[in-house]
Amino acid sequence: MTQIALPERPLTAAPNISRLVPYRHGKSIAEVQRELGITRIIKLASNENSLGPSPKAQEAVHAFAAKMHHYPDAVSHDLRHALAERMGLSPDSFVFGNGSDDVIHLLGVTFLEPGDEVIQGDPSFVRYEAAAILNNAPCHMVPLTRDWVHDLEAMAKRINVQTRMVFIANPNNPTGTLVGRDALTRFLDRMPERVLVVLDEAYYEYAAHVPDFADSLGYIREGRNVIGLRTFSKAYGLAGLRIGYGVTRPEIADWLNRTREPFNVNLLAQAAAVAALDDEAHVARTLAMNEEGKRAFYAAFDALGLPYAPTYGNFVWVDVQRDCKAVFEALLHKGVITRTGDIFGAPTHLRVTIGTPEENALFLDALRTVLHPL
Ligand SMILES: *Cc1c(COP(=O)(O)O)cnc(C)c1O
Repeated sequence: MTQIALPERPLTAAPNISRLVPYRHGKSIAEVQRELGITRIIKLASNENSLGPSPKAQEAVHAFAAKMHHYPDAVSHDLRHALAERMGLSPDSFVFGNGSDDVIHLLGVTFLEPGDEVIQGDPSFVRYEAAAILNNAPCHMVPLTRDWVHDLEAMAKRINVQTRMVFIANPNNPTGTLVGRDALTRFLDRMPERVLVVLDEAYYEYAAHVPDFADSLGYIREGRNVIGLRTFSKAYGLAGLRIGYGVTRPEIADWLNRTREPFNVNLLAQAAAVAALDDEAHVARTLAMNEEGKRAFYAAFDALGLPYAPTYGNFVWVDVQRDCKAVFEALLHKGVITRTGDIFGAPTHLRVTIGTPEENALFLDALRTVLHPL
């Protein structure tokens, strides 16, 4: 075969793709078992629900398993209507994703044109910047305050004629902190029409009862350019099935739904999500477990003299006051997987998921042992 004659040019990805940093996932239990040969391992690294999925969701998955030769419902009808009814919103206010990560991706592809700019807090969730880079949009990182809270004043100062999107994780990951209701409302009041504010509420269920928590739905009902992101991966315990959604004004949802792959949310995920939504007792057990764990974490960190940010999620951002990678490695050898702060630019912090009482005790015992000789 003779190659088509053209000037030589090697195959390369687009320049913006070369700037994308591959996602550094938390270590899995199987990985640590393979690498260290330890059998008893707990994972407090990805803010999953240690209680597991709702039994009702598991039943739904079993029931729908025999139907997996069918394509999933392209519009997630049942889940859409269940959520719309609960929230008192029109069913066309939603866009469903293969995890809320997928919705972040859709937001970038749908709204960012070359030259548009994105603003996010730092440290915050890592997928926002990826969506910006993918669409050739610079992403401005605005440092959190010394208390690890989004600095909305500083973020507002970065707004210019190019700004298209602002990401605010509320509660924030990895710090667990909340932006106050008044501060957020003042910030939104200042936003120009062309800016879409993304309120990432992945930990919504953990923060919903807090009086100062500003639910995205309130702003959406007011008709603002706001989209709330929610997920079934955290409190609902369905991370492995991949399902999350955006809730917003119908016009914005429509644009995102044009970009979306028609079958991006699988059949089992839809069925499990509908069932999980109905299992309020499971969510209540999850929240109670989290409150108990939070108290155990705080007491232990106080006793060890380790500063931490009060959390509104199911994880704690703690300053171990020494190289976090050394502490992480030592904990790993004791069978506890955590997440290091260095990837978020905080070299002495760990992010630790609050687990079951047994897991928390294992982690805290390991931490006490590990910190001593270091
Ligand atoms: C976990 C998390 C997500 C992603 O959740 P999925 O629905 O599993 O994709 C999004 N945003 C934040 C802040 C998170 O912590």
